[in-house]
Amino acid sequence: MKTKVLKSNQIDEAVSFLKNGELVALPTETVYGLAADATNEKAVSKIFSAKGRPSDHPLIIHLDSVDKIIDWVEEIPDSAKKLADYFWPGPLTMIFQKKKPVSDLITGGLETIALRVPKHPIALTVIKKLGSAVAAPSANAHKRTSPTKPEHVLKTLSGKIAAIVDGGSCSIGLESTIIDMTRAVPVILRPGAITRVMIEHVINTHIQEQLEHQQKVPGNMAIHYQPEKPLFLISMEEIKRRVSQEKNVAIMHHSDILKTKNATYYKMPKNKAEYARSLYETLYRIDSTDVDKIFVEKPASHNKWFDIHDRLYRASSK
Ligand code: AMP
Ligand code: MG
Repeated sequence: MKTKVLKSNQIDEAVSFLKNGELVALPTETVYGLAADATNEKAVSKIFSAKGRPSDHPLIIHLDSVDKIIDWVEEIPDSAKKLADYFWPGPLTMIFQKKKPVSDLITGGLETIALRVPKHPIALTVIKKLGSAVAAPSANAHKRTSPTKPEHVLKTLSGKIAAIVDGGSCSIGLESTIIDMTRAVPVILRPGAITRVMIEHVINTHIQEQLEHQQKVPGNMAIHYQPEKPLFLISMEEIKRRVSQEKNVAIMHHSDILKTKNATYYKMPKNKAEYARSLYETLYRIDSTDVDKIFVEKPASHNKWFDIHDRLYRASSK
């Protein structure tokens, strides 16, 4: 199969592929998603083969509006209504008790379902024109770095999917925050651009962050989001100490550093949102070079950087 690269004015073609049960990679504000018509089981099953994703790992359903929640969910808690009104469309995924008929293929056999309304005109228009919803995990081979540009998607999925819609770079660049709304006290399962504090402000309740939970889902595996090169998350002091022993290493740093000849230096933004936007792009750039390994300077341990720490930790070699 040759993967067709569509422009943003060729959305109807993307919709036709989806209606025919094919896979299309779509830009969202977080990362590129690998979309299938969520009401077509055969199409959804193609996501697992294209990505090499284990079948018990649930998918996030992407809707074009808040009203569509009721198609998928048994009961919507009041706090979830508030969060939907405030943050949707946007980078927040909420987990609910699923409606009985929802396919096990989507939920990985769980009784719960993950929903999100993305804030990207291309994704929203495609879903609206499709007239249902799309199941869409990140558009990359299983365990690999999430794509924030079309060329990242093509790197691992070219020839395996019908098309990709080119929407340029993703504005956020990290996966959505995931919050489980089925518990008495909501729990964040994956940190993201919408932080615990922002959520607490809206629902006026303390919530929990439980990142080491037992559910077997990729967002919670210790190894995930990995580049091809081994990545080491270390302090600037350690980088300075270790760099002299290396022949050919990439260094992602935000502090100033004296450059040496045996390393390639990638200056990262000091601003958190800009860092997030360029993180995966920098990892893909480094992966396309011939360095042996990557040293990443550990960002400040401020709460605001929680999502970046989480992804860098999972991306690192253990
Ligand atoms: P990705 O495959 O990168 O798009 O990530 C999707 C993530 O959504 C999964 O890895 C899970 O962490 C999460 N997810 C989807 N459905 C559920 C669910 N029912 N319960 C818990 N987590 C879920
Ligand atoms: Mg993923």
